[in-house]
Amino acid sequence: MKLLVIEDEPELRRSLHNYLTDVGFLVETATDLPSAREKVAAHDYDAVLVDITLPGGSGLEIVRALRERDPSTGVLIISAKGSLDDKVHGLDLGADDYLAKPFHLPELVARLRALLRRKRFRGRRAIELDELRVLPEERRVEVNGAPVELTAMQMDLLLFLVANTDRVLSRSAIVEHVWGDLGERFDQNDMLYSHLKNLRKKLADKGCRDHIRTVYGIGYKFVSQP
Ligand code: CA
Repeated sequence: MKLLVIEDEPELRRSLHNYLTDVGFLVETATDLPSAREKVAAHDYDAVLVDITLPGGSGLEIVRALRERDPSTGVLIISAKGSLDDKVHGLDLGADDYLAKPFHLPELVARLRALLRRKRFRGRRAIELDELRVLPEERRVEVNGAPVELTAMQMDLLLFLVANTDRVLSRSAIVEHVWGDLGERFDQNDMLYSHLKNLRKKLADKGCRDHIRTVYGIGYKFVSQP
């Protein structure tokens, strides 16, 4: 799950980056309004955490831009301004949630996960496709009731595929989602191919049918009916 943290206070930005990375998110940061604008225009994020008072202008501009561009991105406002106006305005513009500073990092993660679940999986706790059961928030996968042990990357890959069931995903969209900017440093096709191969094998070993289709020349599709 890929996040953008837009926050100008260096210490808070650092602690958000470290904590969110530790709990398994892929985190990018922006320090002011112009760089935030560039990032949201160029990349897709699962969720964006945005501070309101930023060098260069109001974070509310980003909230508005995200809503116009991609309604599936979760938007969480983190703001020191405890004013009710900001909160109401932000939610009116389409932010999904609002957290006033100071906040506890576990509280932020809980809100973020709830938000991502609502966005990506329409509030469902579990996605069940016959023998396969995926629990996104708990990051658990079962085949015929037996747990499948996946690496963090295999899990991210599977969750992204499942969230886009029956839709074709390009290789670059998958790589960008799972590896972010890191993906640019590797041979994307090789890397994706080998992770998918291992993921498929782990699922197949437990008796799961192969839901992952290769779409020639484009990428992959996770199908609900293999
Ligand atoms: Ca600020």
